[in-house]
Amino acid sequence: MSDVAATVLGIDIGGTKMAAALVAEDGEIITEDRIMTPPGDAEQVFAALAELIGRVRGDVRPVAVGIGSAGPLDLRHGLVSPVNIVGWRNFPLVDRVQALVGDLPVALGVDGHCFALGEFWTGAGRAAENLLGIVVSTGVGAGLVVDGEPMLGQSGNAAHLGHMVVDLDGEACACGSYGCVETYASGPRMVARAQRRGWRSGEAVDAAVLSADAAAGDEVALAVFDDGAQALAAGIVATAVTVDLTSVVIGGGVAKAGPVLFDPVERWVKRLAQLPFVTDLTVEPAQLPNAGLLGAARLAWNTAA
Ligand SMILES: [Zn+2]
Repeated sequence: MSDVAATVLGIDIGGTKMAAALVAEDGEIITEDRIMTPPGDAEQVFAALAELIGRVRGDVRPVAVGIGSAGPLDLRHGLVSPVNIVGWRNFPLVDRVQALVGDLPVALGVDGHCFALGEFWTGAGRAAENLLGIVVSTGVGAGLVVDGEPMLGQSGNAAHLGHMVVDLDGEACACGSYGCVETYASGPRMVARAQRRGWRSGEAVDAAVLSADAAAGDEVALAVFDDGAQALAAGIVATAVTVDLTSVVIGGGVAKAGPVLFDPVERWVKRLAQLPFVTDLTVEPAQLPNAGLLGAARLAWNTAA
């Protein structure tokens, strides 16, 4: 056992990479490491994670463990089925990590909630009472922090803002519904919409190219960002009037577009947020490069407290 101050072990699991860190009670990261998420079957993926956890822990005994994972997940049974980790379907992640760490409390949350919790703890949302955190990337994820705790919902999947229907005549969504926020605001869907309107059609391009073109004044790219911003704003305002909050943070790859995204989001939020208790809604860019990892650590601290 080490004599360092108390820490928790935070673990962040995504389809691209996995990260782990020992984190102090004030949010300071003591040790952090990450690996590319390996391909392979359930045991191969877990072996890589176990090795990472062992390396980060060293001989330190944390007081609790928090895991943020790409969803969907089954919080009640501690199972995860991350869309982009095909080897894990209903994988008993909590039990398996528990077996590694002995009798420590182990908490699990979906990555969107951990992102929101991380930004709430030490990032752009740290002055907020309640926070909606949104990740705009290949999909649109989100999480809510209410009274300092993530609002997980019955199954752990609350705040699926990306699948809030904002267009009654909208396009089909990957989730099976239609007109979801994600069909307008995710990176790939924005690129596809722009290409259908003649922007760089036939080229292999991504949302970064689209945002650069929008910043340079390309009309189609600007229009597509405006549509995406309107959909996000509709989701934001619907959530704000439901939960009664005024602070929103947006991160993720598409949010790197900066003002090209945030300016129209702000304009649409102002237009749509009319009830007196949401007219002060603020939408800010995320500040942390590792909000999900810090949120997982905060989840652990909440459990340990
Ligand atoms: Zn959907």
